[in-house]
Amino acid sequence: MSLTLEEARHRAADLSAVEYDVALDLRGTGSGRFGCRTTVRFATASGTTFLELTAATDLAVSVDGTGLGADAVAAAYDGRRLHLVDLGPGAHEVVVDALLPYVTDGDGMHLMTDPADGATYVSAYVGMDVAQKVFCCFDQNDLKAPLTLTVAADPAWTVLANGRTTRDGGPGGAGDGAWAFATTPPVPTAMVVVCAGPWHSRTWEHAGIPFGWHARASLAADLDRDLDELRATTEACFDHYAGLFDEPYPFDSFDQAFVPGQNWGALETPGCVTYRDEMLPRGRTTEAQRGARTTTIAHEMAHMWFGDLVTMTWWEDTWLQESFADYMGYRVAADACGRADARPQPPGRGRACGRRGSGPRAPGCRRPGAGRRRTRRRGCRARRAGRWCPPRTRRR
Ligand SMILES: [Zn+2]
Repeated sequence: MSLTLEEARHRAADLSAVEYDVALDLRGTGSGRFGCRTTVRFATASGTTFLELTAATDLAVSVDGTGLGADAVAAAYDGRRLHLVDLGPGAHEVVVDALLPYVTDGDGMHLMTDPADGATYVSAYVGMDVAQKVFCCFDQNDLKAPLTLTVAADPAWTVLANGRTTRDGGPGGAGDGAWAFATTPPVPTAMVVVCAGPWHSRTWEHAGIPFGWHARASLAADLDRDLDELRATTEACFDHYAGLFDEPYPFDSFDQAFVPGQNWGALETPGCVTYRDEMLPRGRTTEAQRGARTTTIAHEMAHMWFGDLVTMTWWEDTWLQESFADYMGYRVAADACGRADARPQPPGRGRACGRRGSGPRAPGCRRPGAGRRRTRRRGCRARRAGRWCPPRTRRR
């Protein structure tokens, strides 16, 4: 974690009215770097603060319309932070142009070439301490801000993001690679998402908003195979939450994508949830995989309210939002989708008498845990962060 709790609390108290306009240039992936222009508007009480931006080159900065000279930029930027001193109290606008490196470990703007067909995908799933590798920002949960995104991409690609598409630059739209998205409600920096590539997309409208499921082009047949169930699960969960919560769905679209290079099991990015594409199995989906996936869909959708609309102040509260989403995920998978089988059974219920050891026991009774599925979390990074990831089941 690059930011201390003390720094975060000081900055949250100091700043207000934060807004971002972010323009990404994802063309020319062969250069190893992508372009990013961030316009940040904010108000400061102290007049001195800093933005985060990791490993930027070719940096150009302007403050309140005045460009900084090369020496001033070099003095202000240390490779991770852009120090803004002597701004003076009040409202300011900072524009930062930079080139940033693509990554291949999922922590940043992840670049992936599909070995199945040679297609390229560029995606940022972000998460804790990663947004600053994608755009210049105040990278902490309690400085939520509306974000307006534009993307320049390969004209053959589709681009997915948090906000509803307002300009389609893909093959089905303008065809020029210029995409624009509606301004989001205030979102934490860790919940920003961009997925660009030749996605195989299935879209529809439900409850007055656009929905979609997306997967790599090489997984088109697998997505189509499971689409009816994925769509039915999505709609059933969505309608169930709409009835359960007084607060309406807080965002303007709901896309879900099976993506490559995702380090989390799934990530609840507002309006555009991403799942490890292992959750779209090749060939066939087993009953156990279908049950686990239904629970995950319900879990991530719960986060639209608890985690995205209402967001923890600091990472120490991750346990609360994950506990809530786990509870809601199992409950809604059962109540709305009929997947009660995915709900964990309390120890001992109907399966064992509770007696330990190998001595005699009641007829038909097994030792505690005998034959019970044991699960362990896959992905230590996800576990450390307290996020849910798909259980891998094994028999003991
Ligand atoms: Zn979760």
